[in-house]
Amino acid sequence: MSLGRTLRYHAEVTLLGRAVLRIERLRSERKLARPRRHELFGPPLRSSARLKELISRHYLEGRHANGHRKVAWVTSGAPVEPLVALGYYLLYPENHGAVCGIRRMAEKLCGKAEAAGFSRDLCSYARTDLGSVLSGETPVGRLPRPDLLVCCTNICQTVLYWYRQLGEHFGVPVAVIDTPFLYREASDHALGYVERQIEASIAMAERVAGQSLDWRKLAEVTRLSKLGCELWMQVLEQGKHRPAPLSAFDAFIHMAPIVEMRGKASTVDYYAALLAEVRDRTAHGVGALRAERKRLVWDNLPIWPRMRWLSEHLAAEGAALVASTYTQAWGELAPLIDPLDPLRTGARVHLHPILNRGTRHKLETLVRMVTDYEADGVILHSDRSCKPYSLGQIDQRERLGAELGVPALLLEADHNDPRSFSEEQASTRLAAFMEMLRG
Ligand code: SF4
Repeated sequence: MSLGRTLRYHAEVTLLGRAVLRIERLRSERKLARPRRHELFGPPLRSSARLKELISRHYLEGRHANGHRKVAWVTSGAPVEPLVALGYYLLYPENHGAVCGIRRMAEKLCGKAEAAGFSRDLCSYARTDLGSVLSGETPVGRLPRPDLLVCCTNICQTVLYWYRQLGEHFGVPVAVIDTPFLYREASDHALGYVERQIEASIAMAERVAGQSLDWRKLAEVTRLSKLGCELWMQVLEQGKHRPAPLSAFDAFIHMAPIVEMRGKASTVDYYAALLAEVRDRTAHGVGALRAERKRLVWDNLPIWPRMRWLSEHLAAEGAALVASTYTQAWGELAPLIDPLDPLRTGARVHLHPILNRGTRHKLETLVRMVTDYEADGVILHSDRSCKPYSLGQIDQRERLGAELGVPALLLEADHNDPRSFSEEQASTRLAAFMEMLRG
């Protein structure tokens, strides 16, 4: 890379970009600190300003990454630590899809993918991403072109076909890590199978990067990943208090760094600060809602384009969403991570996500969360285009009622495509559900 390019990168990203984002953060912090009267919600989390800075910096680095460092696009459940240790910039199309959903661009981008022949039954993250790739439209300015694609099937098989499409489009290699589905604990055979694929993906990443992996660096990145996941889990566990100091809606937003910036010191610092703030709220009895009357657990991905509508709707009923299976997924595997054995434990960790296990495990997770968070009910988001997460929800609703006496509502929507959500229908169903909870 030329000296001029390096200087330009540092001037635009390291100096100017970071300075502008820091000023914006200070402005946001001042705004968040102003006393605000809101009938439904408690005071907003002050850390939101820092989160915005962190995410904006991540996408700013991405805009200037090509020509400066290698870029990998990765699935949310991929083993990323070797890539971080090799200096790759990482883009998570699923997270970018969520940003498009929140900024109300997903419908348009899904439409672009459908016009190119992709079925509306395909995952709306995939359609949003493919629509963005085909049209070049994104709310974050510009996405860096990938040098490598890394796809792990521990969340679904859809990602395999999605990443193959991306591989063909960009003409770059696709590293696939296939994970056998688990009904019980992982067998040695399954662990060995995944470990060998992680090794092969490292070899491919080394070839593309033109350098060898520094294994001491990998141990350090893995240590930071573990620490970040542990802190994230501790943040979520504060939701067990009454009133819950943060809601699952807060967690959906604040989970961004643990998904797309794992293995970094800045992520660990961020979650340490967030944990301190949330603990302080707990100590002072500050809730996410002004009046918490009922406590609910959420299952499945959020409905990104309607998060605000749903959070206000539930808050108006005094219903606090105190936990979700989705946000916990990035914290609960922390005990399995061993920085001194990154390959074997990498295989173990990437075999155990909730979506790579049977429906019995999902039910047990829900039962445990309802008990631990003292929830009065569960909302099972039946997600039209995420079939693996929505599998078995009708049985789960019945078992929650039969085993715990806890009612569950099946709410039909989609994580990113607003065309699959009807506010009118959702209002009616939520009203009836809340009526039932009030008894
Ligand atoms: S189908 Fe579900 S698990 Fe797969 S990428 Fe889409 S949202 Fe994620």
